[in-house]
Amino acid sequence: MKNRYDEKEAQAFVGAYPNCPPELALRVYTSRLLGAEDDLVLHGGGNTSVKCTITNLVGEAQDILYIKGSGWDLGVIAPQGFPGLDLAYLRKLRQVRDLSDAEMVNQFRTHLQDAGSPNPSIETLVHAFLPQRFIDHTHADAIVTLTNREEAEKHLHAALGDNIGILPFIMPGLPLAMAMAELYERNPGIDCIILKNHGIFTFGEDAKTAYDRMIECVSRAEAYLAKRAAGATASPVVDPGVVQPAVVLPILRGGLSFVEESGRRRTMQLEVRRNQELLAALARPDAKELFVGGVLTPDHVIRTKNYPLWLEAAGLDEEETKAAVHSGLARYQEEYDQYFATQTEAKKVARTKLDSMPRIALLPGLGVVAAGFTRKDAMIAADIAEHTIAAKLLGAPLGPYRELGQASIFDMEYWGLEQAKLGKAKPKPLEGRTALVTGGGGAIAMGIGRKLLEAGARVFMTDINQERLEVVCHNLADTFGSRMVSPLLMDVTSEEAVQLGLEQLVLDCGGLDILVPNAGIAHVAKLAELSEAAFRQVMDVNCMGVFQVIKGAIPIFKRQGIGGSIVINSSKNVFAPGASFGAYSASKAGAHQLGKIAALELAEFGVRVNMINADAIFDDGGVSSGLWDVVGPERMRSRNLDPEGLKDYYRQRNLLKTTVHADHVGNAVVFFASEQTPTTGATLPVDGGIMAAFPR
Ligand code: ZN
Repeated sequence: MKNRYDEKEAQAFVGAYPNCPPELALRVYTSRLLGAEDDLVLHGGGNTSVKCTITNLVGEAQDILYIKGSGWDLGVIAPQGFPGLDLAYLRKLRQVRDLSDAEMVNQFRTHLQDAGSPNPSIETLVHAFLPQRFIDHTHADAIVTLTNREEAEKHLHAALGDNIGILPFIMPGLPLAMAMAELYERNPGIDCIILKNHGIFTFGEDAKTAYDRMIECVSRAEAYLAKRAAGATASPVVDPGVVQPAVVLPILRGGLSFVEESGRRRTMQLEVRRNQELLAALARPDAKELFVGGVLTPDHVIRTKNYPLWLEAAGLDEEETKAAVHSGLARYQEEYDQYFATQTEAKKVARTKLDSMPRIALLPGLGVVAAGFTRKDAMIAADIAEHTIAAKLLGAPLGPYRELGQASIFDMEYWGLEQAKLGKAKPKPLEGRTALVTGGGGAIAMGIGRKLLEAGARVFMTDINQERLEVVCHNLADTFGSRMVSPLLMDVTSEEAVQLGLEQLVLDCGGLDILVPNAGIAHVAKLAELSEAAFRQVMDVNCMGVFQVIKGAIPIFKRQGIGGSIVINSSKNVFAPGASFGAYSASKAGAHQLGKIAALELAEFGVRVNMINADAIFDDGGVSSGLWDVVGPERMRSRNLDPEGLKDYYRQRNLLKTTVHADHVGNAVVFFASEQTPTTGATLPVDGGIMAAFPR
């Protein structure tokens, strides 16, 4: 592992934070160096600290421990990410025999320098009791690869030498801090302390020494592993056969969905990783035995559960795939429930059981599939799974994997303070759901996308016009993050293009919950002047396009087996057509009727189909409506109005004398998609009230 310390950069940090002690600025610098290495810490893992003497408000010198705050990531940490605590007081806690998690956090919070600080790390007391000024702690892949082996001590000494301390796994908190301090006091010259099945602590009187030692130890462990791997015989690879992602992913996603006690359905986002190394690793004859063991470090259990689900789906047809996924999931849940029952009974504790669903599935021939209630959660789980597979593979020549006992895993997974957070944050109504909006390059799509994103859904926007699509997607991504919005170039009139687009969507997130056929074009001409070509083109997009996407989505809905929602952006024209608008009105009426047929045919699969009839929406946040770009000039000419006058005309003609915005259509889509009423086959006008267009 490369040592990234650079004296000039270090001094630049001291200069950049003139209002904090220079040691803290250097602490920020080397923490970020650690955080920059995925092989050291992943997604908020690891922690660092520094001890400084400051002058407090009443002019006294006071020793302060600055330690990483919970919720901060070492890679981007800043001085405010290090809550300062009264070090002298913390050290007195060594006299205490028993300290509950809640009391420990209370002690931290009541001895903070700044009442507004985030909670200090749960490993704060370890940092407080060790004497050195700088302490670095990571869950380095190479180190846990060595510790999680039957002969861990032999390997650790062979890799790192004898000047190290080794402790068995102990839960973070007072007992771990005591054990660490006692070990150090017995062996004051050691370079580092290794915690089995957890990670490594290095230390020093200055920032550079603690960091150098971390990189040195990890590099030695890496070199040792590389040497052992080079000497091992290469594993044969068996061809697992073909797996159809388009079939297995929606089935798996449906199987992972469950209904909470409250009656609320939870659905997850899937994240698929399938590079050559992963596929080769999963194709080894010993792959199952190598990779289904427990986590590398207990931190990961919150993200990935202890065990992945092993799923063999290669060469199976759809019915067999369904049976394999459902029996695999049933077995997994049974084992998880058993583990929960055994541990709560053995420990004589009452805990709120978390869901029993796996977060990682390993599928030979397909790759790693991670699941999470949000896309971020799924991505974090996938990153951890990739590191875990690489570490278990590298450690294979060292002898059998030794996972952490279930009693310790339970303590981490059901840690009291995590339990206290349960049920407090109410998930957004569409969290975990995926939506596809066609006609994604227009004003209405922007409103629909915005409201779906606000409600927590992940949104795919499709259009045939890349430029317009990118404008809308960038606009939405600015507010909601690029992780949640994906552009998908797609011609809705082509069966093949729709098929390919939906396959891409399934590979990206596992399935679909909400389909919004919204693509539409207009053409202004009286029937006498309407050309066949123009009529066909409008029919093709507005009617055939709706048919194609609905037809394409049906297999996904069926494979998932958890219902779904189709919301068609219809038109007030369906009930109140206009002269010179034959192609548009007829095509929209056709699509509207298709929606009613879909409601009839898809109810048995729990899929609801509803229509929204909106009146004129001209633009949204600088994005124009493609339809009104065509229709507007003619309407203005025929009524002798300017653009503002036209908007006013449409406002004045409805009962509520109101302007209809794209967000209003978005709200209607979210209403249907969040299944607040048992409604299908219905039409909701979003038009300010136009009597001629009342649904009937
Ligand atoms: Zn740790």
